[in-house]
Amino acid sequence: METTNLNKKRVALHTLGCRLNFSETGSIAKGFQERGYEVVNFGEPADVSFINTCTVTDGADSTCRNLIRKAHKASPEGKIVVAGCYAQMDSERISKMTGVDLVLGTSEKYKVFDYLHEEKEEKVHIDKTATFYGAATSEAEGHTRAFLKIQDGCNYVCSFCIIPQARGRSRALPIDEAIKNAKEVVANGFKEIVLTGVNIGEYEANTGERLTDLVYRLFEIEGLERLRLGSVEPNTFTDDLIEAFKSSPKFMEHFHIPLQSGDDDILTLMRRKYNVAYYRKVINKIITEFPNAGIGADVICGFPGETEEQFQNTYKLLKELPITHFHVFPYSSRKNTLASRMEDHIQHGVKKERVRTLTMFGEAKLEMFSEDQVGSSSEVLFERQNKFGYWEGYTRNYVRVYLKTSADLKNKIRHVYLRDYVNGRLMGELLN
Ligand code: SF4
Repeated sequence: METTNLNKKRVALHTLGCRLNFSETGSIAKGFQERGYEVVNFGEPADVSFINTCTVTDGADSTCRNLIRKAHKASPEGKIVVAGCYAQMDSERISKMTGVDLVLGTSEKYKVFDYLHEEKEEKVHIDKTATFYGAATSEAEGHTRAFLKIQDGCNYVCSFCIIPQARGRSRALPIDEAIKNAKEVVANGFKEIVLTGVNIGEYEANTGERLTDLVYRLFEIEGLERLRLGSVEPNTFTDDLIEAFKSSPKFMEHFHIPLQSGDDDILTLMRRKYNVAYYRKVINKIITEFPNAGIGADVICGFPGETEEQFQNTYKLLKELPITHFHVFPYSSRKNTLASRMEDHIQHGVKKERVRTLTMFGEAKLEMFSEDQVGSSSEVLFERQNKFGYWEGYTRNYVRVYLKTSADLKNKIRHVYLRDYVNGRLMGELLN
């Protein structure tokens, strides 16, 4: 008898947080599909609602709790699985919420199928052994870029960060296995891979193999047309990496180098492994080799004790450097971190104002960068057609482009003339 969608089990997945989490949800979604589930939008009635959580800020924690309520409302009879970083850190509170059936930590989330099948009494499953589970975006998620996980965990002790507690010690995937996963992703139709991890600059320290060698091997994969690099800590960004990127047009000139603060004293308190001068040197090296690069940076506003002058130092540095994509966060106190025990926590209103100032400044810088692209051309990988009929995709240096055509551009790479910048949008025209 033919199986119809009506009698297929349905799973709704939602991801919070970083690209790494997205790649992991991708693999889990694929696992559900292989077991006969249909993937539906989160919030629709489903037999299983799976939330892959984040705990970087208390905002992420409360979003997770809202999603649990939403899932329960949509499917009062359905099972709710809460997994990942927040689940790892606050399992007790989550397990008491109405409707929650399973709470799975950062390693246990990959075993969701076993736990659903077993119907055990025990709701909470947290393992602290930090096994490595490879992951990659799957077609089930409808993405066009594939996030390929090559590393997990972190051995650093940045004073504000809870990730080492949530995800454990740093570990990474050997080159051969990463290449095997990358080939699978390409065979599934993805043209672009984004290398992803918590701290991918530590790749060599974990595997004994060089990240640059992985990059060279990835360039050789037939059918892989674009490679992007996820976030890399400034202290692990090497000249060899730049040389590797220069060796292939498959590399997209787009970088993400976390800054966190532009003040040396705050960087020390944060226990970051670089100072402002070093960060400046890294960015200048990048821009010397890739003058039109898009460069992203994470920044935290209102770290304990941050004075107005120290905040201004961050502002000035961001003004001086060719950073184009700002990722601004208010400092959020996380339990059991060094910073949570520091004095002089900054008032909520002050943090909010500093975030607002930097966010607005970041938007203005991205606008200027986008305007600078007008009159040039770039290859664009198109992702989707919006409701106004415009196709949307990203340039090599990560600027979103809008274009109207009757052709189907989904998952196609096209050479595009960047014609105009109108109402905050970079408009393109197809070139042959
Ligand atoms: S490098 Fe620092 S901020 Fe990043 S995950 Fe490790 S401890 Fe956290």
